[in-house]
Amino acid sequence: MNGHARVAIYSCILNAALVGIKLGLSNVSGSLALKADAIHSLADVVSSLAIFVGIVISGRKTKTFPEGLYKVENLVALFSSFFIFYAAFEIVHEAFVGESIDVIRHIPLVTGGILASMVVAFLFSRYELKVGLKVGSPSLVADAKHVTTDLLSSVVILAGVYTTWLGYSVDRYVAVFVAIIVVRMGYQIFIDAIKVLLDATLDYPTLDGIRRLALDHPGVSEVVNVGGRSSGRFKFVEMTLTTDERLLSRAHDHMSRLEEEILDQWPSIDRILIHYEPEQKDVRYIAVPLKDYAKDLQDHDPVIDDHFGEAPFFALIALSKQDGTVSVHEFIENPYKDLEHRKGIKAAELLGSFGVDEVRSRVSMEGKGASYALEALQIEIEPTDAETLGQLIAEVGASTE
Ligand SMILES: [Zn+2]
Repeated sequence: MNGHARVAIYSCILNAALVGIKLGLSNVSGSLALKADAIHSLADVVSSLAIFVGIVISGRKTKTFPEGLYKVENLVALFSSFFIFYAAFEIVHEAFVGESIDVIRHIPLVTGGILASMVVAFLFSRYELKVGLKVGSPSLVADAKHVTTDLLSSVVILAGVYTTWLGYSVDRYVAVFVAIIVVRMGYQIFIDAIKVLLDATLDYPTLDGIRRLALDHPGVSEVVNVGGRSSGRFKFVEMTLTTDERLLSRAHDHMSRLEEEILDQWPSIDRILIHYEPEQKDVRYIAVPLKDYAKDLQDHDPVIDDHFGEAPFFALIALSKQDGTVSVHEFIENPYKDLEHRKGIKAAELLGSFGVDEVRSRVSMEGKGASYALEALQIEIEPTDAETLGQLIAEVGASTE
């Protein structure tokens, strides 16, 4: 279980404990307001449970969203909201139809109990806020900020307890006030559940904005799909795109930065999952080292160089994946051929910058610096027996037939 799932569970446990404490205090004192507040804490249990489920679901590294789980979670939330409405109705009913409560018993115990639960709830909310901000979870932050509502109702209940003690029967009105807060919370839980059950995807402008941001991002060549889901307050996005970046580590860096930018621009998104695949090119580029070059192969067929780094020219052959045609794309002059050291590595990097997929070589390049550089750039090395460029073109053409 990751850190913030644990915090969401702590929030559930704490609120469940508060339900017990407030019910106990309500029985001891006879205060209807405290009973109403126990139901408030029960509503808090439901919302922190929803956050926990959202975090767990978003943590799954699945290609598709487990839609079934969502529905279950939101159906449970929907039924909980009905229960919360019913409980609030019972409180209001009891306040107006039930017996009048003139005396609050065990005032020191009740005061101590309420103050203690206020302190614990406040300290926990500070901790939850810190974790929520650190991991960037808007749902945890929202849960932490809800403590203001909790403290407010506790203060009103305390005031009610003392006003009743002074001889004014206000406990029932305080109970109604707390019941109104409970109805508001139940309404929020109800709306969140209905929204997700009716329309499980994120709104179109958000998804479209994310798509456009991704397209403009370096390393991204195409956005295959963008999907989003919300679970109550919990929102997350899953995206598949193709990258033109050859180096896996660099592609990963691009995606991490894109992730941060999206989370910065849409702070309500809790989590984003980006799948990326290499770009599917229509053309395969094959490079071969040459001793010389000619604009027109009919006039002169350039000779293939047995050396890689020292070759004065490279020919870039384009092999079309659609119709299998082979043509000379361009000639590249090798500016590194006279370097004393690392000319093979430099030449490999030069070919990498031209988007070369494959190098054909007459001699084995095994163990040489250039072959490691080519491998790092994910450029394949293939042997050839061709002596001239013309022969190589014929060889590449024949291999596709
Ligand atoms: Zn609350």
